[in-house]
Amino acid sequence: MTKFETVPDARGHFGPYGGMFVPETLMTALQQLEAEYAEARRDPAFREELRDLLANFVGRPTPLYFAERLTERLGGAKIYLKREDLLHTGAHKINNAIGQILLARRMGKTRVIAETGAGQHGVATATVAARFGFECVIYMGAVDMERQALNVARMRFLGAQVVPVTAGQATLKEAVNEAMRDWVTNVRSTHYILGTAYGAHPYPMMVRDFHRVIGDEARRQILQREERLPDLLTACVGGGSNAIGLFYAFLNDENVRMVGVEAGGRGISRGEHAARFQGGRLGVLQGARTWLLADEDGQVEGTHSVSAGLDYAAVGPEHCWLRDLGRAEYDFATDDEALDAFRTLAEVEGIIPALESSHAIAHVIKVAPAMRPDQIIIANLSGRGDKDVNQAAKILLGVDAE
Ligand SMILES: *Cc1c(COP(=O)(O)O)cnc(C)c1O
Repeated sequence: MTKFETVPDARGHFGPYGGMFVPETLMTALQQLEAEYAEARRDPAFREELRDLLANFVGRPTPLYFAERLTERLGGAKIYLKREDLLHTGAHKINNAIGQILLARRMGKTRVIAETGAGQHGVATATVAARFGFECVIYMGAVDMERQALNVARMRFLGAQVVPVTAGQATLKEAVNEAMRDWVTNVRSTHYILGTAYGAHPYPMMVRDFHRVIGDEARRQILQREERLPDLLTACVGGGSNAIGLFYAFLNDENVRMVGVEAGGRGISRGEHAARFQGGRLGVLQGARTWLLADEDGQVEGTHSVSAGLDYAAVGPEHCWLRDLGRAEYDFATDDEALDAFRTLAEVEGIIPALESSHAIAHVIKVAPAMRPDQIIIANLSGRGDKDVNQAAKILLGVDAE
């Protein structure tokens, strides 16, 4: 076995990153979750039910689509898009939500809670809660509720209670705090469906495992179509779940380069972005030791991104470790570059991407022209842009689409 499959260790460490930094009251819940997950992943009935739901409810496998006109336009490498945007509810988030609701049911819980930024994870959680008859509460920053009003309405139609969080910056970090507070109080009845490859062990590992289907499929699909592996994988990185989901199956393929793309916001100066690997430092936030945006005293800094789903001060611990090893690299795209990519993909391929995913497309637009036509890029199209149309229309067209 190679080193990539040996992490995390039993306490959730990816090298110096990860771990379990939670209040004592949550240790029991995390240990129960870890034990239940270890059992479930070996249980053929669990695996079969998950497989069936992924195929018939979620909509897997997703296509690996050759973006022919974008390839021609950029005049370099062949560009393929992994179409997670075509999944039920419109983003990759549901791969994880469906796995965790099955675990919640195994543990005898009756209520699920979640945090959400762009609202995609809230929608995915509300969806699986409705499908399995769970009570559902979603915590969401008041600022995010405003910029993602469509998703708030979807969650409500799905029967979830959406709780606005007004503390601090009123975005994702504060929503996670509220969800953790709820979990501490209601831990007997409640499972916390954390939405990214972040937090205390076992979440970063478990969420990665539920998303690795993205890369498993993509690897099979590209081998079938091109009879060789890609030269470059790229994906946007918020907490890091869609990126690790794509990367994981390729970690042992030495010649496959991997680039995660963080949110460069209005540029790399304090408070104007959410690119943790540009000016971040080692610290502890919301359960994990990781790379984050904080000042000299460890005080977490404000962040900004045009995409709510990337607007978070910390990054998943496995990405820090892959970066230290030199196995994955991390770049950023600014708001303007992401908005340009949003427009380009819509006009050239007939696909409106999520603003999060537009960061990965922006990276493709930057690097593809300098690559050879016999080289291959796979970009993860983590979600579709319906939820962003109103916001993008205001910025790009100066009109209100509502
Ligand atoms: C939530 C979200 C992201 C960011 O989360 P990761 O855990 O980094 O994948 C990216 N794209 C879309 C469409 C999202 O909804």
